[in-house]
Amino acid sequence: MYANLQPQAPSGVQANGVTFFLANVMPGSARRLIVRGRDDRFTGERRGDDLICPLTVQNARALQEHLPWLKPQPLGAHLSIGFGDRIGVATPGHIDALRAADPNGCFAPIFAQQSVRENERLHRTPEAVMAAAIWGVFALDWRAPWGADADHVKEVAHVAPFVAAGYTFFTVDPSDHVDNAAQTDDLATLRAKCAALPWAMLETHYTALHNAYCGRAIELDGVALHFDEETLLRGLAKYGRAIAHTLTITKALRTASAAAFDLEMSVDETDAPTSVHEHYFIANELLRRGAPVVSLAPRFVGKFQKGVDYMGDLGEFEAELARHVAVMRHFDRYKLSVHTGSDKFSIYPILARHAGARVHVKTAGTSYLEALRIAAARDPALFRRILDTGRDHYEHDKKTYFLDCRPEHVPPGAAVADQDLPALLDQFDARQLLHVTFGSILNAHGVALQEMLRAYPDDYRGALQRHFARHLQPFVAGHGGP
Ligand SMILES: [Zn+2]
Repeated sequence: MYANLQPQAPSGVQANGVTFFLANVMPGSARRLIVRGRDDRFTGERRGDDLICPLTVQNARALQEHLPWLKPQPLGAHLSIGFGDRIGVATPGHIDALRAADPNGCFAPIFAQQSVRENERLHRTPEAVMAAAIWGVFALDWRAPWGADADHVKEVAHVAPFVAAGYTFFTVDPSDHVDNAAQTDDLATLRAKCAALPWAMLETHYTALHNAYCGRAIELDGVALHFDEETLLRGLAKYGRAIAHTLTITKALRTASAAAFDLEMSVDETDAPTSVHEHYFIANELLRRGAPVVSLAPRFVGKFQKGVDYMGDLGEFEAELARHVAVMRHFDRYKLSVHTGSDKFSIYPILARHAGARVHVKTAGTSYLEALRIAAARDPALFRRILDTGRDHYEHDKKTYFLDCRPEHVPPGAAVADQDLPALLDQFDARQLLHVTFGSILNAHGVALQEMLRAYPDDYRGALQRHFARHLQPFVAGHGGP
């Protein structure tokens, strides 16, 4: 039976005298990598000339050594989208969406992206997330550059496993070091807080900063920023330690990695919106110290909640965004990153109009929700178990999120008729509840969900293609060429 193995599309790739292709060794079984020719780095079962290899981390790495396009790369300040994939089978659907909605390649994709928090909840590792993306890239023969995002890295200790797995984009989240109380502290408290900052780490002193920021207008394109002493003290007290911590992690990255990397600094998970002055201050302090910032995620005005559209005044969002864009364009080095960026359909045209190609849209859980949509349609019993697990764990799992979800509006599985189950994926409260309980749901039902998706692969790819086309189109339409 093995002698007749035939490559699926792509029809086998040759490199260094070895042929590689994916095949189902037996009907209905998981796909395998067939290595035709000799290479000791792969592990599998030998059948004549063929080595039949499971899709493991080790085999993915061996394949990367032959096919350089399977290695992620730094993408710089290019228009980009992050495709988080919590189940590990979504990359083909992500590639379908890019090919359908962005045929000219306006977007640079990030196919491997998972935060430290997601990995902890799912018991996944950076290398397992990377391998899942590599198999998808290989299966769909994607050869354009792509990136890999170590998302929400909060501590130096988080860095090493991502570097070892070959990540190229590091999202530093120093939010534990942001002093949210400085938003409303009085002047005396702000002075005391600023005096106590880790000045040695910041390699400057207060007088130098005062001279650099205060007493003159900072002219940006169309926007003049004035720092008075209070503005500087507030920004410094709020973000001084966060800047120092970002620099510490950047230094650790440089030590750990010989290769170039993209750096994002994210303060999206803070209590108050990032003001335009604070944005300027953070960017200026990081860039003048040589941090390779290509992406910066302010906390924008309004509500950015999981799995649902933007909530807030669109006029206010647009006015604030225009000022943030003026700061970004002034430095001309990085893009604005929109975290919790999925499903924000009402603001994509505004982002595209103002920031053009200097945007990173980061999505994480929405691909998992599309998988649940397939379960709701194809396997009602499985979906009911998933829904009930979500209901049971919501109060515990919601803790680290900002949500307007009303869990009492989410019915138990038994109360919903089969044909009404998919509509729960379009209902605000159910979407949020299912979104933030992903850890409990996937730990309990992840294997069953993967098996269901394997049984209906075209359903999931089709759903992802439709869903992400809506994310990509507003930017592609506004982009007008590379
Ligand atoms: Zn985020």
